[in-house]
Amino acid sequence: MLKLPPVGTCLPLRDKIDHTFEFIVEQQPIGHKLFLLFCEKDLKLSRCMQFLHAVDELKIVVEGKRLAHAQTVFDDFLSLDSPQDQASKFLGAGKLECVSDELATKTQEKLKGIVPVDVFEECRQAVRDFLSGQPLIDFVESPFYWRFLQWKTLERMIITKDHFRQYRVLGKGGFGLVFACQSKFTGKMYALKKLEKKRVKKRKGEKLALNEKEVLEKVDSRFVVTLAYAYQSKDSLCMVLTLMNGGDLRFHIYSIGSPGLEPERVVFYAAEIACGLHHLHTARIAYRDMKPDNILLDDAGHIRISDLGLAVHIPEGQSVRGRVGTPGYMAPEVIDGHRYTFAPDWWGMGCLIYEMICGRTPFRKHKERVSREDIERRIKDDRVCLDNSAFTEDSRSICDQFLDKVHATRLGCCGEMFEDVKAHPFFQTIDFAHLEAGLIPPPFIPNSRAVYAKDVLDIDQFSSVRGVEIEKADEDFADKFATGIVPKPWQEESRRQEIEGRKKLRNINKLY
Ligand code: ADP
Ligand code: MG
Ligand code: MG
Repeated sequence: MLKLPPVGTCLPLRDKIDHTFEFIVEQQPIGHKLFLLFCEKDLKLSRCMQFLHAVDELKIVVEGKRLAHAQTVFDDFLSLDSPQDQASKFLGAGKLECVSDELATKTQEKLKGIVPVDVFEECRQAVRDFLSGQPLIDFVESPFYWRFLQWKTLERMIITKDHFRQYRVLGKGGFGLVFACQSKFTGKMYALKKLEKKRVKKRKGEKLALNEKEVLEKVDSRFVVTLAYAYQSKDSLCMVLTLMNGGDLRFHIYSIGSPGLEPERVVFYAAEIACGLHHLHTARIAYRDMKPDNILLDDAGHIRISDLGLAVHIPEGQSVRGRVGTPGYMAPEVIDGHRYTFAPDWWGMGCLIYEMICGRTPFRKHKERVSREDIERRIKDDRVCLDNSAFTEDSRSICDQFLDKVHATRLGCCGEMFEDVKAHPFFQTIDFAHLEAGLIPPPFIPNSRAVYAKDVLDIDQFSSVRGVEIEKADEDFADKFATGIVPKPWQEESRRQEIEGRKKLRNINKLY
């Protein structure tokens, strides 16, 4: 279904889009790919790109091997006195010209003992500055850029339900059902979260729905579900999200296991969730709904934070107030109606680790009936009980520090913030750079034939909504919601269409 429009029709877009290196090469996956292809025809340029790639890779090399790796990068790209200097220069493979001799020498000095991750930062800047100059200008004049314009034009097309095949129900949300679906462009599988227009209107959920969509658009994290498309059909507002087939953490804690999870899983999930939270906070988004129901597993056993309906964007220097969240997981400052930014999420992280370890929430026993007032009083006043034998010294300590009732001293909210979280002994087995690159194999892989959720037949159908009609104002709202393709995830999907599409199509009949 992906057919690029004729170049002629794409030229008007030329004046409307950003022409910076940052936008084209660093933010647009297809722009990056095309720039790479453009550079391949010139050895000097392609070596610049190889250098940038090698510097990126250095971030995930373990500390013990970093010196050796950095030395290789240096020898390949920056060495001043390599024996074959003349010959290699002739072939274009000597020192990168855009890095000055002084800078190269200065960098060489740093290649001793413990090499910092960003040892090549200044050189990287120099290379980037060089590429952003004449090479970028030449790229924009080349057919590779026309190709980029074709993709960017295609990206503005109106998306409808005809672009997807819909499969089985995965779950039920407040405004509609969630289905498995498949992009007809590439065969990639997604989750389709439908919000019925009438139900949204009846419950005055417009702000909530739009908020969720707009927040999702702002995040780019492998630990948060990604929104790839937002469109509408006659009856529904639709969000196309990363497919998470492995069930939610609530199911894994209580319906499999005794209740609770094995220690390796607790540490691994906690680390991925902490990174997801950190990515949200970096985008200045407070999540506000941390609980096991909202943490979903994918086929491989990695987790993502989902259901961002309560999340809020907090501009720099501001804070919010609002008693939102789920009883039992709300932080004391939220219950008290105080102003806050991101601290309640770290409290929620404490609740979650506690629950994964003990198979119950910190302030309510499993299945205990307690009033909301009572839970809130316990959260504010009672010391959390940490004498369960499932705790280790480290897990007890991290729960204690996240469940600090005073947010000013809570782990993640003071001192070095996220750095302190990562440095806690509870996470000593986790290499966060590898984790963030998706390189740590999950300790548990969901069985691809099991269904980690209620039986489809047990998911109640919705009754039809009566007494509401969709009017002009509602259609205007729907238009505001239905913005179509989200560039980055869509470009990633399209870039990979060849490989993934074929594989997925083969598996599809087996699963659905
Ligand atoms: P709501 O905001 O209305 O509560 P959710 O986002 O929580 O809706 O989705 C409802 C249910 O649908 C979830 O509990 C889960 O079972 C399923 N679901 C939601 N998102 C996904 C996804 N990306 N992949 C798989 N299942 C999902
Ligand atoms: Mg939900
Ligand atoms: Mg929600």
